[in-house]
Amino acid sequence: MTDYDVVVIGAGIVGSAIARELAGCELSVALLEARDDVGDGTSKANTAILHTGFDATPGTLESTLVRRGYHELSEYARHTGIPVEHTGAVLVAWDDEQLDALPALLEKAEANGYTRCEIVDSAAVYAMVPHLGEGVRGGLTVPDESIICTWTVNLALATDAVTRGARLLTGHRIDGVEVGPDGTTLRTSAGDVTARWVVNAAGLGADLIDAMLGHHRFTVTPRRGELIVYDKLARPLVDKIVLPVPTSRGKGVLVSPTIYGNVMLGPTSEDLEDRTATGTSESGLDFLLEKGRALMPGLLDEEVTATYAGLRAAIDHGDYLIEADPEQRYLLVGGIRSTGLTAGMAIGEYAVERLRAAGLSLVPRADLPAPPRMPNLGEASTRPYQDEELIASDPEYGAIVCFCERVTAGELRDACTSVIPPAGLDGLRRRTRVMNGRCQGFFCGGEVQEYVDLLTGARR
Ligand SMILES: Cc1cc2nc3c(=O)[nH]c(=O)nc-3n(C[C@H](O)[C@H](O)[C@H](O)COP(=O)(O)OP(=O)(O)OC[C@H]3O[C@@H](n4cnc5c(N)ncnc54)[C@H](O)[C@@H]3O)c2cc1C
Repeated sequence: MTDYDVVVIGAGIVGSAIARELAGCELSVALLEARDDVGDGTSKANTAILHTGFDATPGTLESTLVRRGYHELSEYARHTGIPVEHTGAVLVAWDDEQLDALPALLEKAEANGYTRCEIVDSAAVYAMVPHLGEGVRGGLTVPDESIICTWTVNLALATDAVTRGARLLTGHRIDGVEVGPDGTTLRTSAGDVTARWVVNAAGLGADLIDAMLGHHRFTVTPRRGELIVYDKLARPLVDKIVLPVPTSRGKGVLVSPTIYGNVMLGPTSEDLEDRTATGTSESGLDFLLEKGRALMPGLLDEEVTATYAGLRAAIDHGDYLIEADPEQRYLLVGGIRSTGLTAGMAIGEYAVERLRAAGLSLVPRADLPAPPRMPNLGEASTRPYQDEELIASDPEYGAIVCFCERVTAGELRDACTSVIPPAGLDGLRRRTRVMNGRCQGFFCGGEVQEYVDLLTGARR
């Protein structure tokens, strides 16, 4: 007798989306995660752009799933309150070669089913983004490219999976796998877990788990992307996502508003060996400052709020690698490199289709709970400290604890008593924005910790 019908490994955006889909069927599902919280891997440290997929390679699985994911996540965001701002983007050409590349990018967008791009001259680009540096030659508009809160996406999907009945098993690092005739035993840091079917959505660790199942089909290379977050006073400088002409190494360095009211510059793209190297580097930040100086000189006069880095799970294969092994009752979901935030929900659906084709019997449940309503972390909509009615009904929403980000005691309490409470201060930051502003917790850190101790003590 196995513990679960299906175990999904990895509680990032991709694993959470798959677990959510599966929990919509008559199955026992576990979402298993090495770390002590959901969304603590690559899904917490990206550029947070909801991509239209205009620049994907046409005909790839990635192109199809990014396009589908864009629409599904936009719709899901409306139901759950995940903050999204449809800012639009402009891809900027800075020299003749880049200008000459624009018609091909327009054709590519159309081949990807995205037909709203337009080539514009330099005057039109400057009219859209007046603070760009000198030397713009022209641009390509992408009106539907958007910004989103990656933290809330991950948390919403995982919360939805849990309220649908999936069991979240954090602190379960898989160290070994045994496939038997009746099921698979996952040897984890917290004991054995058995399952009839296994889905591997372990991001940077997906090739290692794949090898534990006897496969040697790909290798993950951590591709680091470093970013600089500028102060909220920089926000008037840029209203749209400013994209570079993409190269074979990726989407390049962009300037973008963030959903929290800041401005972001990055990411770099650097292949590493260490899968844990999420620190920033002097050379990476110097490179970004040099790029930023040319892109938008005024940005460099603004204060830096934070820097961070994320690791893309790049693989030696030009597309997502999603393959089922019916005999092992196993599905690999690998190589979700630089578009998984956008494509996550579509990957979830596609993974379930692959499992069905491999023999997993799926009976949709008729009694699904409504999707969760997530707290709003976005600047574009009303936040609790601005909501007079809410404060009148519960004064905790008027008690600001973090003054930089204006996070209230009510929001901290809600996060600590939610379906998936944070495992520590970093998780609380991703759920509320607390300590995420100018002072980075210097002023409020002690009070926040006391508050959390009180709340979690009460929970125990
Ligand atoms: C710099 C950067 C910028 C990006 N920008 C964008 C963007 O703008 N838009 C976009 O759509 N995408 C973007 N991406 C890509 C996106 O962030 C990823 O594709 C997505 O987060 C991948 O999600 P995941 O669930 O596959 O991986 P993860 O979030 O890494 O989740 C995998 C999980 O598996 C767990 N795990 C690993 N090994 C084990 C094990 N042995 N046992 C148990 N658990 C294990 C990990 O702890 C982790 O939590 C960007 C990525 C980076 C790095």
